[in-house]
This record gives sequence, C-alpha cells and structure tokens, in this order.
Amino acid sequence: MLKLFTSLAATAAIALISGSAFAQGYPERSITMVVPFAAGGPTDTVTRLVAESMSKDLGQQIIVENVGGAGGTLGASQVAKADPDGYTLLLHHIGMATSATLYRKLPYDTLNAFEYVGLVTDVPMTIVAKKDFEPTDLKGLVEYVKANADKITLANAGIGAASHLCGMLFMSEIKTPLTTVPYKGTGPAMTDLLGGQVDLMCDQTTNTTKQIKGGTIKAYGVTSAKRLDALPDVPTVAEAGLPGMQVGIWHGIYAPKGTPAEVTQKLSGSLQKALKDPDIIARFAELGTVPSTDAEATPAGLKSKLESEVTRWKPVIEAAGQYAD
Ligand code: ASP
Repeated sequence: MLKLFTSLAATAAIALISGSAFAQGYPERSITMVVPFAAGGPTDTVTRLVAESMSKDLGQQIIVENVGGAGGTLGASQVAKADPDGYTLLLHHIGMATSATLYRKLPYDTLNAFEYVGLVTDVPMTIVAKKDFEPTDLKGLVEYVKANADKITLANAGIGAASHLCGMLFMSEIKTPLTTVPYKGTGPAMTDLLGGQVDLMCDQTTNTTKQIKGGTIKAYGVTSAKRLDALPDVPTVAEAGLPGMQVGIWHGIYAPKGTPAEVTQKLSGSLQKALKDPDIIARFAELGTVPSTDAEATPAGLKSKLESEVTRWKPVIEAAGQYAD
C-alpha cells in the first residue's frame, strides 16, 4: 500500500514538474485555433483579430481553422477530442452554453470537456434584411412578417448558433414561426442576404456593421441596452418595441480538458494583452463591440460565464421545446 502511495506521489510530482517545464517552453510551434463556423463570419472575424495579436505576443503563429456545421458543435467536438497540449484551442460563443440544452445528444460534455482561457468580447446582434425588403422600421417589419410569414425566409448558422438563438427570440416575441435556412456560418448567409436569396437574419454587429453602413442591407434594431456608437441610427430592440430580444453574444477561448493550467494561464495573459492592443480596440469599436476586461479574460471569468449561461438558457430552451438530435 505504502509502495503504491509512494509511486502515485512520484508520478504526480513528475507530472507537475514536467507540466511546468513544458509550460515554460510553451509555445514551441504554431497553435491551431478552431472557429466552429465558416470563414468570413462574425466569429471568424473576432478570432482572426485576436489570433493575430496573440501570435505576436506568444512568438508563434496561431493558425485559424474553420470547422463549421451543426451550429458550432462540430468544431467544439473536434477540440474536445484533441490532445490537451495547448496546441489546439477553440474560440466559440454563447452557442457553447445553449447547445448544452438544445442538442439531445452532444458528442462532448459541455461543462467537463474543456479547460478555460478567458472571455474575449460580448457582441450585440442586429436584425437585418435584404436591401429591398419592404418594411422601413421594426414596427413595420413585425406587421409585414406576420402578414407574409409563409413567404419569408430567415437565415441562421444552424441550431445552437447565435443567429439561431436570436431568430428564435424574434419568432417567439412576435409569435410567428418562419422558414429558417441553416448555413455553416453567417459569413455565407450574409452572401445570400446581399444577393437577395434569403430575406432576413439576426447576426452579430461584427458581421453586419459594414454592410449596414454601406447601405447594402437594411437594419431594424440592435439587441443591446443602448444604441451603439458604430450604428447610431439603428434603434435598440427595446426602443423599437421588442424588449425581450435583448441579448449579447459573448465569446470565449477554450482548450481540451487536461491542458496544463500553466498553459491556459499563459494564454489568458496573452489574451489580456491582445485585448489592450490599440488596433484591436479600434477594430472592435468599428464593428460595434468592446474587449473583455482583464478579470473576464481569465479561466475563472469564462468558467463562471459558461456555467451561469447554461443555467440561464436551459429553462428558456426547454419552454420553447425546440431540440436537435
Ligand atoms: N456566430 C455566427 C452565429 O452564431 C455564426 C458565424 O460566426 O458564422 O450565427
């Protein structure tokens, strides 16, 4: 027994020493950061900005890999199964929390399959439509959608995506179901909205601000509590009559379960530096969002956010009774 205990203690000590020795030299090669949505969309945009700045700080390149599909759960699943060595990371948003309830069967256990690096940003959503969509304001949009529900299509990035969540909130607020069109990300969905192949979408400002400002799509409301400096002419959903649609799409960086704490701490420190990079602050402002604080950009900050958001959305999703297999 004593022998067993001694050998277990020795193994633990070696693991500890090699964990910190490993972390000291980390990173020694490039890191892959998985985005669980298609290239060109809002999550991709945020990830590429942050990855570029963190790469400079870490002295190794962070390569962004898009693994879109099934509302972000395919990419999350790939990272949950990856080696916990700090060389595979995931940047995911609120969908990490909602998919825990939305999917009857997930290939990973949301609250136990990952280590945490930190929160990145909390992005407002916008209700947008193709350029020539008839209604001119949110009140008119609601009337028009109710009267033409069978003809209107609503794009999203699959069940569990932020665009799906926001679309569900919209349909539930106006008590009108619509035909939804799933894409691998709202990057390709935006291409179809611009081309007029789909009518409506609710998507993060990080994907819509440029088009709204350029007049290539129409905006009806932002889901933030206050109007945004980047889009001063777009009313809040509450101002425009849909207060139940207030929602922020928080994004966080995760690592597979078992990644050494020294590694996630190092990455968290690098994330905090990136979020103070003047270029990131300026780009985020143009895109209608702000960087997380130092306290939020920590493993503890992201862990508590994920846990509270799983609890928050569970009853809402159960009440809506919409699940995916
Ligand atoms: N974040 C988007 C969404 O949840 C998808 C994307 O990034 O393409 O709808």
